[in-house]
Amino acid sequence: MEVLYKSTRDDKIRVTASEAILKGLSEDGGLFVPDRIPAMEKSLQELAGMDYKEVAYEVMKLYFTDFTQEELKDCIDRAYDSKFDTEVIAPLVEADGVYYLELFHGATIAFKDMALSILPHLMTTSAKKNQVKNEIVILTATSGDTGKAALAGFAGVEGTKIIVFYPKNGVSPIQEKQMITQKGDNTYVVGIHGNFDDAQTGVKQIFADKALAEKMEAAGYQFSSANSINIGRLVPQIVYYVYACANLLKEGRLKEGKTINVVVPTGNFGNILAAFYAKNMGLPIGKLICASNENKVLYDFFNTGVYDKNREFVLTSSPSMDILISSNLERLIYRIAGDDAAKNSELMKALTGAGNMRLRKR
Ligand SMILES: *Cc1c(COP(=O)(O)O)cnc(C)c1O
Repeated sequence: MEVLYKSTRDDKIRVTASEAILKGLSEDGGLFVPDRIPAMEKSLQELAGMDYKEVAYEVMKLYFTDFTQEELKDCIDRAYDSKFDTEVIAPLVEADGVYYLELFHGATIAFKDMALSILPHLMTTSAKKNQVKNEIVILTATSGDTGKAALAGFAGVEGTKIIVFYPKNGVSPIQEKQMITQKGDNTYVVGIHGNFDDAQTGVKQIFADKALAEKMEAAGYQFSSANSINIGRLVPQIVYYVYACANLLKEGRLKEGKTINVVVPTGNFGNILAAFYAKNMGLPIGKLICASNENKVLYDFFNTGVYDKNREFVLTSSPSMDILISSNLERLIYRIAGDDAAKNSELMKALTGAGNMRLRKR
């Protein structure tokens, strides 16, 4: 059954998966969400016998329903190859009775590689499917790790250019060096005066600028995004949760009828949202535990129902989590508000305006 993508801010918008990947963000400023979260077709038992690529196919085919089997398998094969230093791709390692999902085996050692190694292929395939002749200009805001992983993913990919914006004083020295030494004729890196939220807000404003879009179109370009606001980044992240559950079952560590809790260090709310989608697809996931650093806007939100970005932005030793405007939370809010675009828009307006919103009193 086909899954279409609707905007979290406008009920009337419906696009295909490939269109959503190409656009990145909806024109109304909303994020694309699947019109239903599909259920896993294969049982966990069956998935336990599959390798990473096979599981990736089983998950992605349910969301990217306008891709052919050949197109999707081709994207997966190109992404999860020897760029990863282990064929397992995402090993599950036990220490002190807890399992750690190692997501750092890709080209740039950031977990972002899990999705950004496939996004360029999904993007160019989407462009072909939609007869896009324009060159695609990827705009990406980064608080550290996304920048390098996105640059590495898109470097040399025909038909694309990538521009990364990072907070000049807000990333680690290694992250900055990783980015500014990136090779490739189609890669650009810009340090901005401001923090990650400024970079992300700036990029969102460029996306919403209709006059600029027309100017770009006339010159043969169009914008897209490599941030986790792009559904083409979110869906590949569901795969490793499914893979982890299947492996736990295989090892006899997850018993039929039992669930696992997942702890996710959170910034832009992409990774933990992928776990939420996995849970809603029927995976045996119990609690989702959102870990924050000193910029604990999400921790406070889940405790009080109030999201308040009016607070000091703290630069920490974990810059990838130094975020006060957590973009993907909008997808969760939309869903728990009963897929109500009007209600969600109202809340988002409050967040952009006064800088806070209240979901319920406690
Ligand atoms: C990106 C990143 C995060 C935040 O992930 P989100 O999906 O944005 O919540 C946390 N830690 C590290 C090391 C990261 O690279």
